[in-house]
Amino acid sequence: MSKTHKKRVVESLWRHVEMPVVDESLCTGCGWCPQACPTDCLAMGTHLPWLPRPLDCVSCGLCTLICPAEAIKMAMRE
Ligand code: SF4
Ligand code: SF4
Repeated sequence: MSKTHKKRVVESLWRHVEMPVVDESLCTGCGWCPQACPTDCLAMGTHLPWLPRPLDCVSCGLCTLICPAEAIKMAMRE
């Protein structure tokens, strides 16, 4: 499978997997979750984590497990 074809397949399917969603009211901005992410798809913004590379998320849930504030949950993308 060519790299371009693989990218198209991934892009068509990635909305059907769970991705991390941050509760802004609970997040303390500690920055632990990006450090736990094995694919570096999660990064800290000014105050909150965000997904600059969502296609690289493998839905492992490590970011939710490491969060001391229970501010991340896995959910289907809208
Ligand atoms: S679910 Fe896994 S791969 Fe996706 S953002 Fe969280 S730690 Fe990274
Ligand atoms: S680990 Fe939890 S509290 Fe810390 S930045 Fe990530 S979501 Fe926010």
